Amino acid sequence: MAAQARLAALSAPTVPPEPEVDDELRELEDISRSLEGHTLSAATRRAYATAWRAFDDFCAGHGLEALPAHPETVRWYVAWMSTQLDDDGLPRFSVATIRQRLAGIGERHLRGGYLDPTAHRGVVDLVRGLAKLRATRPRRKRPLLLDDVVRIIAAMEHDTYPGGVSATRDALAVWLGFAGALRRSEAAALTLNRLELHAVDGVHVHVGASKADPENALPDVVVLPFGSSPASCPPCAVHRWIALLGLARHDDARMRRRGIMQQLFSYGLEEHVCGVVDSVALISSADLASGAPLLRATYRNRKDARIHARGVSGDALHTMLLSRMVEAGMNPAAYGFHSLRAGHVTQARRNGASTEEIMRAGRWSRAATVDVYDREFNPAARNSVMRLGL
Ligand SMILES: [Zn+2]
Repeated sequence: MAAQARLAALSAPTVPPEPEVDDELRELEDISRSLEGHTLSAATRRAYATAWRAFDDFCAGHGLEALPAHPETVRWYVAWMSTQLDDDGLPRFSVATIRQRLAGIGERHLRGGYLDPTAHRGVVDLVRGLAKLRATRPRRKRPLLLDDVVRIIAAMEHDTYPGGVSATRDALAVWLGFAGALRRSEAAALTLNRLELHAVDGVHVHVGASKADPENALPDVVVLPFGSSPASCPPCAVHRWIALLGLARHDDARMRRRGIMQQLFSYGLEEHVCGVVDSVALISSADLASGAPLLRATYRNRKDARIHARGVSGDALHTMLLSRMVEAGMNPAAYGFHSLRAGHVTQARRNGASTEEIMRAGRWSRAATVDVYDREFNPAARNSVMRLGL
């Protein structure tokens, strides 16, 4: 029975009847098509067209047939949509959007004379289950506070080869997410020339226009300040990683390895390497002239580590953070790269930051966005319960 139901969509007629087409029939066909178009509003037609294009792309990307689609294909598509997150760590597709996408897929099938695969019991149940899950699950990623961040970075193997290469990069990525409050796509898109060493402030990062906020007219410079100790110093992480990028450019493999090992083995947290106060700086502004990606993909085997010319993806940063959390003995469930940005807001609020200061660091134009964070993560912030003198 189940197998029969599954096959129902496949056994639908595949070729519409094609009578001898004469002019009159063609005219009737035109009329019927224009009438058909009128049954849907323009907005719905556009939404259906978008839905169909997206599904068609998904199928092409996964080697699946889109028309007619098997109900199993539609189930995979729903599962895929349900796991996509936007830059703020929120589900990219709401249940309402998923339902609309399915309506577009169903409409395209019916119009082509096929059975509607989205009406299949398996698909309907899946969407219903997802709606229930979404209604109860906390939506945002939980925040990582300063102590968490320091712990995650401290657990990395900085002074080994080849493991220290990716540790150096990942420490910087974590600081960009936490101190810089960068979204993962923003961190992944940074190039060397977006960074600027500043004698007093630490490092200025010129973040490009954000996908999440394309019309951002606000200043797009975030500051990575010098840390009170090298263990919590984002500029030190900048200097270490960019110095490695310089060493990795060496043509001779032995020289390259030796230079990188020397730097990694001398890793220590007794002194800054960022030039603050009287410390020696590992890099200078000249090292930031290139438009090459800042956070690069790395490759390593047991003996060797290479740094690729291409940048990492935002997804890779997300996965990196979760595995670094596991290495630090933390449970990564409910966390993501966005936890660093959420953590920045939460930590700053707990330390007394004003809404205006947080808007500036997070590059938000509306105070309402900060309120959402407060409600979710800092219920005690700006709450009169704290003034009851208990
Ligand atoms: Zn430093």
